[in-house]
Amino acid sequence: MEEQATIIVGSGPSGLATAACLSQQSIPYIILEREDCIASIWKKYSYDRLHLHLAKQFCELPHMSFPAFYPTFVPKKMFIQYLDDYVSHFNISPMFQRTVESAEYNEVSKRWIVRARNASSGEYKSGKEFKNKNVLVVGSGNSGVEIALDLANHGAKTSIIFRRPVHFLSREMVYLGLTMLKYFPASLVDFLMLMLSKLVYGELTKYGIIRPTEGPFSMKIKCGKYPVVDVVNGLGRAGLIGKTLAHGPTHGQCPFGV
Ligand SMILES: Cc1cc2nc3c(=O)[nH]c(=O)nc-3n(C[C@H](O)[C@H](O)[C@H](O)COP(=O)(O)OP(=O)(O)OC[C@H]3O[C@@H](n4cnc5c(N)ncnc54)[C@H](O)[C@@H]3O)c2cc1C
Repeated sequence: MEEQATIIVGSGPSGLATAACLSQQSIPYIILEREDCIASIWKKYSYDRLHLHLAKQFCELPHMSFPAFYPTFVPKKMFIQYLDDYVSHFNISPMFQRTVESAEYNEVSKRWIVRARNASSGEYKSGKEFKNKNVLVVGSGNSGVEIALDLANHGAKTSIIFRRPVHFLSREMVYLGLTMLKYFPASLVDFLMLMLSKLVYGELTKYGIIRPTEGPFSMKIKCGKYPVVDVVNGLGRAGLIGKTLAHGPTHGQCPFGV
C-alpha cells in the first residue's frame, strides 16, 4: 500500500483543474484514471459533431484561459487541444488504467483508504454506421439527445426514451440565463427562460416530453442537473426535431428522424 498526500480520482476537466490548483500551491498529488487518456469522455466517448454547449467564458479551467481566437462555442477538437495544452503547462501526469473501486475513511488512522484496479470500455463516434437502422437511445441528457440527433441526421430510424421531465433551452438562452444569474435571482431567470423556451419550442407534451416543475437554473444550482441544450439553434431545432417529433411518441418515447 502506497501513501499519498492527495488522490484525485479521474482526469476529466475537474480532475485536471484540481491538479493545476494543487500544483500552484505546491501540494503533492496523484491522479488515478480508469481510462488510458485524459478527458476520456471528450476524447473517446463523444461524437464528432460535439461542441461545448456553454459559451467559452463559462467553461475554461483555472489559471489558463482559452486562446483568444477560439470561437464562443468551442468545438470538441479545440477543447481537447486546450486540455492537452493544460496538461503540458501544469505538468500533469495521471496514472492511467487505474479504476478506483472504493474509498473509505478510517477513523482510527484518520486516513482515506483508496482501492484501485486496472480497466477499459466501448464507444459511439458517429451515426454513419446506423443508416436505415432502428436505434433506441436510452438516456435523455445532453449526450443522449445529441446522439439521437446525430443518428437522425445520418438516416437512422431513431427513438429516444425520456424517463424524466426535461427542460429544452437553446445555447443562446443558456448564455443569456447564465449572464443574468450574475444580477438576478434564479427564480426570475427561470421564469424568463421558460417563457422563451415555450415561445421557441412550443408545447412539448404533445411529443411526450414533460418540463420539470422546477426551473432550469434552480435545478442546476440545487442538483447540478443541466437542461438539454439545443445545439442546432432554434431554427434547426424547429426544422429537424420539431418535424421529426411530430411523428408522435408512445409511452414516453420520442422518435427523431423518419
Ligand atoms: C454533450 C455534452 C456537452 C457538454 N458541454 C459542456 C459545456 O459546454 N461546458 C461545460 O462546462 N461542461 C459541459 N459538459 C459537461 C461535461 O461533463 C464537463 O465539461 C466535463 O467533461 C466534466 O468533467 P469532469 O472532470 O467533472 O467529469 P468527466 O469529464 O466525466 O471526467 C471524469 C473522469 O474520471 C474518470 N473516472 C470516473 N470514475 C472513475 C473511477 N472510479 N476510477 C478512476 N477514474 C474514474 C473517467 O474515466 C473520466 O476521465 C458537457 C457534457 C456533455 C456530455
